[in-house]
Amino acid sequence: MSADRRIPVAVLGATGAVGQRFVQLLDGHPWFRVAALAASERSAGQPYARAARWFLQEPMPSWARDMEIVPCRPGLDARVAFSGLDASVAGTIESEFAGAGHAVVSNSRNHRMDPDVPLMIPEVNADHLELIEGQRRLSKGGGFIVTNPNCSTVGLAMSAAPLHRVFGIRRLAVATLQAISGAGYPGISSVDILDNVIPFIGGEEEKMESETLKILGAPKTAASFPISAQCHRVHVSDGHTLAVSVETARPATPAEAAQAMRGFRSALHDLGLPSLPERPLVVRDEPDRPQPRFDRMEGKGMTVSVGRLRVCPVLGLKYVALVHNTIRGAAGVAILNAELLKAKGCL
Ligand code: NAP
Repeated sequence: MSADRRIPVAVLGATGAVGQRFVQLLDGHPWFRVAALAASERSAGQPYARAARWFLQEPMPSWARDMEIVPCRPGLDARVAFSGLDASVAGTIESEFAGAGHAVVSNSRNHRMDPDVPLMIPEVNADHLELIEGQRRLSKGGGFIVTNPNCSTVGLAMSAAPLHRVFGIRRLAVATLQAISGAGYPGISSVDILDNVIPFIGGEEEKMESETLKILGAPKTAASFPISAQCHRVHVSDGHTLAVSVETARPATPAEAAQAMRGFRSALHDLGLPSLPERPLVVRDEPDRPQPRFDRMEGKGMTVSVGRLRVCPVLGLKYVALVHNTIRGAAGVAILNAELLKAKGCL
């Protein structure tokens, strides 16, 4: 039998909503092999099947069922540590792992805005990878941290990127309708969300307003235009919907905006990244799409769907975007970031 030459990886926070998505998406991954599943002391020592209350539609991979959960302490046999840790603990644990030489690829907010930490969506700002050199200068073991944005920010940054490149963005307003799975597990109580819309998600609006500018800017200089975000939790299982209005520096008709979005292609296709979808964006022409139930799995959950491109009487242009929050908005984009790290020789 030939040895498994895939890169060993750990999932930190493996029992949570994002952690489960990591486990599911890493099943059979051609480049990465899950060597450790880590969570809190509450779960440590238990087999994964007992510690994780699995709630994805896809079955739990058989190799994961009997893996014993370990505590989140550095020194695991893993080059990459994918983090789906609760933000209350992620900052310290991720720094410890990077300090011990691991490549930390994180979903958590704690390090996203650190100047030396890339906040990356590979198709949009792969050039921000150069920032890790700043971290490597300080770390002895060769460890570093790479982050991906907040789930709703991913949908905004991916759909706005071609508009910003082609026309320049002057001002932008966005209102979100965010799925329940975005609140983790057990998340929001059914009594609160059934028959309801909750017009507050702590910290979310601030994250959308700051992270989008870091992503759309140069590695060390954020883009500069005002963003106003309003975030709402709605009774949808997966998939965040965004209603976006935008004023561009050079006026764009809906048809010109659609052309710019349809022409948006990743420059990374030659790298053969396994999780890179054929198209980062699809633009739909139907008057009532995208919808979470029908469109969230576009491109295996990695493609953002845009629709309803039309004239906005206030800002000029408006549209609706849909992003799968735990795939493209979390574990999927993190795995794509790690694939980019491998392809660029950083692992
Ligand atoms: P979650 O379901 O609440 O899971 C949190 C994970 O953190 C669990 O595995 C938990 O382990 C672990 N944990 C909690 N306290 C710990 C401690 N003291 N030491 C070690 N591990 C600990 O949360 P989530 O929704 O997956 O979110 C995880 C992170 O990703 C958050 O920072 C979130 O903001 C971010 N994020 C989430 C989404 C989304 O759509 N859900 C999207 C983008 C980013 P136990 O089971 O042992 O407690």
